[in-house]
Parts: sequence; C-alpha cells; structure tokens
Amino acid sequence: MQITRLRLSGFKSFVDPADLAIEPGLTGIVGPNGCGKSNLLEAMRWAMGENSPKSMRGAGMEDVIFAGTGTRPQRDFAEVSLHAEQVAGPDAEVEVVRRIERGAGSAYRINGADVRAKDVALLFADAATGAHSPALVSQGRIGAVIAAKPGERRQMLEEAAGIAGLHVRRKDAEQR
Ligand code: ATP
Ligand code: MG
Repeated sequence: MQITRLRLSGFKSFVDPADLAIEPGLTGIVGPNGCGKSNLLEAMRWAMGENSPKSMRGAGMEDVIFAGTGTRPQRDFAEVSLHAEQVAGPDAEVEVVRRIERGAGSAYRINGADVRAKDVALLFADAATGAHSPALVSQGRIGAVIAAKPGERRQMLEEAAGIAGLHVRRKDAEQR
C-alpha cells in the first residue's frame, strides 16, 4: 500500500484545509519547532484509527480539533483523509476518512461508505501498516522500542510481518 495523499481540515494546528501529495520515494517535511511536522504524522495515525488521546498528545480525543487562537475561533470538527493505492484488494485506490465532531465522537468512511473503526484497522493491518505499526515512528519512539517488554516487541514484529489482522479476526471468531 502506498499512501499518496493526506488531506486535513481542522486537525490540530491545520485549521484551514491542507492537501499534501506524497510522491513515491523519500518525502521530507522541514520547518521550525512547533510548525506542525509531528501533527502531520499524528494525522496519519489518527486516520488509521489511533484511539489513545495520550499518544496524540492530548487529554481527550477532541483535543485533535483546532482549539482556536487569539485571532481565530475554535473549530467544531476535524477531518483527515488518507488516499492510498493498493497492490492487492478489490479497489486499487482507497480513500479513508475519519471525522470527529465536538460532542459526537468519531466516524469513518472508506471510499465514501460509512464503516466501523475495525474495518479501517483491518484494512491497514492487512497492508502491514496502521496506527500502532512500526511503519510509523513518532518522535521519541526509538527509545520506547529499545525499552519494550518482550510481549510488546512481539506485537511490533507481528505488525511488521502483516499478521496483526489475523489476530483481530481470530478474536472476532472466538466471540461468536
Ligand atoms: P518540533 O520540531 O518541536 O518537533 P513540530 O513541527 O513537530 O515541532 P508539532 O508538535 O507538530 O510541531 O506542532 C505543535 C503545534 O501544534 C503547537 O504550536 C500547538 O499549539 C499546535 N496544536 C496542537 N494541537 C492543537 C489544537 N488542537 N489546536 C490548535 N493548535 C494545536
Ligand atoms: Mg515534532
């Protein structure tokens, strides 16, 4: 899976709609401290289903919504869209959208259709990426990998090997 486009609106410091094309190869994002580089990576993780506000550097999930500044009022929603091209699967192009509204929680869409958080998690797990996969390394996470317990490290390896989706499906089957 190749992520080809990231679009944000109202997400953290990206109050105005932003549209980033991600070309094949290496993409670098540079800028001064606090300009929003980490927010972009967090936007990707969030669209993939990240549900821990702490790992998004907030107290609650609504903290991802633009909080306002001295000159601009806060926003009522945040939306992030990830455009990806898949090598396998029914659709070559896939667009995943996550949206959160104040007081109304999160909703997900895949190619325009309402889906569950789990469907998004499976889509990315099968592509060996996802909110908790080692494909996305946040600031300060290298130290955390070194300090991880064996069980946690196994989870990282399983995600990297692309079998994390199988565990979700097994748990599902066991509950039926
Ligand atoms: P560094 O180089 O220090 O790692 P960075 O480019 O990664 O910086 P980020 O951490 O992505 O910067 O951005 C931090 C900025 O995002 C801060 O100015 C913070 O106020 C702003 N920010 C975070 N959440 C929100 C929010 N909900 N609403 C408005 N601004 C926000
Ligand atoms: Mg940063």
